[in-house]
Amino acid sequence: MKKHCTAILLAGGRGSRMGAEIPKQFMEVGGKPLIAYALEAVERSAILEDCILVTAPEDMERMRRTVLDRFPSGKVLAMAPAGSERCFSVANGIRMLSEIRGSCDSGSGTTDILFILDGARPFLTEGILERCYESVLRYGSGVAAVPSKDTVRIADEKGFVIDTPVRSSVWNIQTPQAFFFPEIRDAYEAMVKAYEGKAPKDITDDACVYERFTSGTVHLAEGSYENLKVTTPEDLALMEQILSHM
Ligand code: C5P
Repeated sequence: MKKHCTAILLAGGRGSRMGAEIPKQFMEVGGKPLIAYALEAVERSAILEDCILVTAPEDMERMRRTVLDRFPSGKVLAMAPAGSERCFSVANGIRMLSEIRGSCDSGSGTTDILFILDGARPFLTEGILERCYESVLRYGSGVAAVPSKDTVRIADEKGFVIDTPVRSSVWNIQTPQAFFFPEIRDAYEAMVKAYEGKAPKDITDDACVYERFTSGTVHLAEGSYENLKVTTPEDLALMEQILSHM
């Protein structure tokens, strides 16, 4: 029987690297706000049953008005307030989901698998979601990734190369990042306790939390080179180019 999958859709960043006046998730690209692309992918998906949309508290009204009213989604269970860093936004989303689900881990209306999605990735496909889902069932985690096209070198703070990983073992990590819900929920709870009042500089994604706060090993699932994260104005131009070829 198919597992119940919930997404945490992250749209709580400030998008400072975009240098725009409004947070990037609200920027109109190809006639829609950026976040609408991920939201529509969730809406269309046969894998994802529902989702929590994480938004900065001061943007919730704007999210309702400019996104949810225009692109209605029956799958959004609730909006959760973003935190100061991505990992705290995920933790807030998980807390909101746990409140909605109650404390029981089984039975109907529960979440078996949690998918964490960057709202800034407009080209999420059902194929990527399926591969992450299969990976969770088989290996306990499914983190979208693509082989690095570039050679990666590790350098010291003076710019001298100290290590060169074998390119065939280097991957670029994306989202979705998917895990069994009780496991990732407990891992995030432990992360929040461990980082109280500290900057979580070494926590860059959900895979880091999983590695650090569970005994599991992260398993990669095939992502896609088109599953780009829109971060800078160059990425917006690339997104427009991809859209024009669709
Ligand atoms: O900043 P970056 O693009 O790496 O963020 C990845 C995703 O996490 C984006 O969708 C962004 O909106 C979200 N985010 C968040 N809360 C934060 C920081 C980022 O929801 N405090």
